[in-house]
Amino acid sequence: MLLNLAVASALFWSGQGAAPNNQTPAVQKPQATIAAEQDDLPQVTDKKHADELKSDAEQGKKYAAEVEKQEKLSKNKDFQDRVAHIGQQLARIANHNDLIALWGDKRLNPYHYEFKVLKGDDINAFSLPGGHIYVYEGLLDFVESDDELAGVLGHEISHARFRHVAMFEHEASKSAIWQIPIIIASILAHNADVAIASRLENMSEQSGWSIKAEKAADFGGLQILMKSNYNPVAMLTFMERLAARKRFLDPLERTLGIFQTHPISRDRAETMMQNLRAYNIPIQRSKASPSYRVVAKDGFDGAVSLFFSSHKLYTFGGTEARERAELAVHRLNKFFDAVPELYDVTAGDDQIVWRGNMLIAIEPSDAEVAKTTPQQLKRQTLGAIKQSLYFLAYRVWDGW
Ligand SMILES: [Zn+2]
Repeated sequence: MLLNLAVASALFWSGQGAAPNNQTPAVQKPQATIAAEQDDLPQVTDKKHADELKSDAEQGKKYAAEVEKQEKLSKNKDFQDRVAHIGQQLARIANHNDLIALWGDKRLNPYHYEFKVLKGDDINAFSLPGGHIYVYEGLLDFVESDDELAGVLGHEISHARFRHVAMFEHEASKSAIWQIPIIIASILAHNADVAIASRLENMSEQSGWSIKAEKAADFGGLQILMKSNYNPVAMLTFMERLAARKRFLDPLERTLGIFQTHPISRDRAETMMQNLRAYNIPIQRSKASPSYRVVAKDGFDGAVSLFFSSHKLYTFGGTEARERAELAVHRLNKFFDAVPELYDVTAGDDQIVWRGNMLIAIEPSDAEVAKTTPQQLKRQTLGAIKQSLYFLAYRVWDGW
């Protein structure tokens, strides 16, 4: 969501966002459709600044019209409502709070944000100058929680808020390397041919701007989410899940879409982790995304099974199956959130143990449900947990 977002990312207008104060909006409202719950934006008194914001708005409006000529808007009203609902909460935060901009325009740049869903399977999103933010249906299918969607939107909002497109243009004007019109054209025609796409990638790599813009947007998104009701750790789970998916795609597909426009790298994920730690936000992936969560599901005859992602870990039988399962869910989520080493989990006497702490107590009633002996069930369970751990470690650390 970087470059795409960044370049595409600079307009202003449309938007709801209730302002906490009653200041007069400094920026002239665009004449087109004004959203019903218009936000009163903070006043921008500096004439030059106000003109720049206005120019962002005009530029973004032009790009938006271009996008909507080439792409179809989604007909899925639930998608549209969900994106607008979450997006406007975050836009309000961005419009009324100081944010640290690691790269880009450091001033408070308020816009009337507008969030729209485009038809298509791409797991992608982008932002145009002035706050026109677009999300493809494919991304909405991919996110596993409102928190993950909020992370993506916070990132996109940050590209607009930090005026990354204007920054790109400014930098480009100083060097002949960047051919902004080509870049914008290839961004807007998101099915741009591979030659243009790879040229764009080379240029952005050479310049280093896109990496800077991505990191700045990640950090901006983090700051916005920290001020919201959404879980910032979801920004990390989204990156990790996307990177894991990338490894399964064929090489051509890897060069397109979100991977190309917002390069996801181990470096980005590690930076995100460092920032979460710096803000004392516990990295509990289980709270951010179902893929990292142990859940209990009811089976036959009162039995309750535990799953991590889609991997079955254990089935509790007997009269206390439900209570025992719920306690185990709590312990196992803590366990997986810690991303332990394979050798940290062992088999004790009638139980599975993590560094001396009991994870699952093997009862004869459970062995009965599994139609095996407690001894055998213990071995199987240890194997299942280790397999899940391996799967988790692969997703979290390896193969980037
Ligand atoms: Zn981005």
